Amino acid sequence: MSTDSVATESAAAASNLLRAAFPGRDLTHHDDMGFEAEVRKPWSQTCWIPSTAYVSLATSQEVADALAIIQKTGSKFAIRGGGHNPNAGFNSIENGVVLDLSRLKSKTLEEDGVAHIGAGNTWGEVVLADGSQVSANAETNSDLFWALKGGGTNFGVVTRFDIATYPLIKTQYTISLYDGSDMSPIINTSTEVHKAMEADSNIGFFVNFRSGIVVVGLLYADTPAEPPNVFDAFSKLPSLQANVVPTTNGTILSLAKAMARPEDTLRRAISTVTTEPSKELYEGINKIFQEVTRGLPDAVQIHYTAQPVGPSCVEAGIGQGGNPLGLKKVMQDWWVFTAEWAGEDNDAVASKALSELSKGTRRLARELGLLLEYVSSTFAGAPDDVLGSYGAENVKGLRTVAAKYDPDGVFQSLQNGGFLLRNLVV
Ligand SMILES: Cc1cc2nc3c(=O)[nH]c(=O)nc-3n(C[C@H](O)[C@H](O)[C@H](O)COP(=O)(O)OP(=O)(O)OC[C@H]3O[C@@H](n4cnc5c(N)ncnc54)[C@H](O)[C@@H]3O)c2cc1C
Repeated sequence: MSTDSVATESAAAASNLLRAAFPGRDLTHHDDMGFEAEVRKPWSQTCWIPSTAYVSLATSQEVADALAIIQKTGSKFAIRGGGHNPNAGFNSIENGVVLDLSRLKSKTLEEDGVAHIGAGNTWGEVVLADGSQVSANAETNSDLFWALKGGGTNFGVVTRFDIATYPLIKTQYTISLYDGSDMSPIINTSTEVHKAMEADSNIGFFVNFRSGIVVVGLLYADTPAEPPNVFDAFSKLPSLQANVVPTTNGTILSLAKAMARPEDTLRRAISTVTTEPSKELYEGINKIFQEVTRGLPDAVQIHYTAQPVGPSCVEAGIGQGGNPLGLKKVMQDWWVFTAEWAGEDNDAVASKALSELSKGTRRLARELGLLLEYVSSTFAGAPDDVLGSYGAENVKGLRTVAAKYDPDGVFQSLQNGGFLLRNLVV
């Protein structure tokens, strides 16, 4: 029997068992009205792939039971949380089962400030392959906790996050649009704000570059009577077109609501590079952007965002149980490059432009001595070398944890896609 036929048979067997185990919550494209809606849930149309079966799980025990069926039948599977990742095959699968976690919506706040958050909540513990449910934190199963902080979907299904909360209620923010033809002062000002972050870790910002437009978000983790002086230069730039969100004293939640907008249903792809910041690099990336977007069909939009991360953020991550990311304690930008387009016909041209922008940035950053190896899984495209970027020692540690918590290699052999240890060359 061919590999495809084996996969089809295993998926069909899993589908039948899941149907019996979860009546009314297993959907297939043969006979369920709700199936089409779930197929079309992911953020990117490139992930709108009809699976053999789709089951919506509501408790950790149900996740364990579904994984037991996966293991018994040998069916391929994909885990889906919010479905925001645009890499085809990560949260979707053609010949296999989608395990949907969106019903895991519990939310409780303990007196000590720790919030227990079900994995199906969107805002923006772990069930192992053998079905056992374990907790992972800095004291218990600390090796698994370390690995999960960036190691991806190689170890188990996370059903609940226990998160230390901070009383960061007050936030001041301004979001403005600038005319992209006036790039030089925008870049100068951006790099000045970047420098100011080193001295004041309350400062945050992002800059999103599009054809003809730049969107700038200025953020402060408090509500001072006056915004920091370094923000002044942005309000004085002649290229300022509009304050989409005028300076507002609010909360993280009100900021998230202010930024939320209905998104078009489009095909999408992403890629990322991490660099140290510099004016020369910002200018060079914009030059590459102008070159790769010249002559693109109207239906294809490319844009990119500088997301500054400061050393205090890296320190905090290390202080909370460590992580395998291999991050350097320096000012850095986690660049995210995004392609959005309509029509399958444009897949090749959009992917090529995105790849040229990402690779060009990487090349330029290396030439300037500003490239950092880290590749963020949150913003990476499927071809990006996420786990390899963490460094040989960290990869060794991830392999050890995977062998301990998934000795049969279920997450490597049966999971459809993701940044998986099985894809590492070394
Ligand atoms: C342009 C852009 C902007 C973004 N902005 C934001 C933002 O503002 N805030 C933010 O938080 N993120 C942001 N992201 C990150 C993006 O949304 C992440 O990909 C998303 O948070 C992933 O969560 P999800 O539940 O939607 O994952 P899914 O797309 O459902 O899954 C992603 C991967 O994780 C696996 N997975 C999902 N849930 C689990 C689980 N419980 N256990 C084990 N494996 C699991 C899946 O199998 C898949 O491989 C942005 C990304 C881009 C490209």
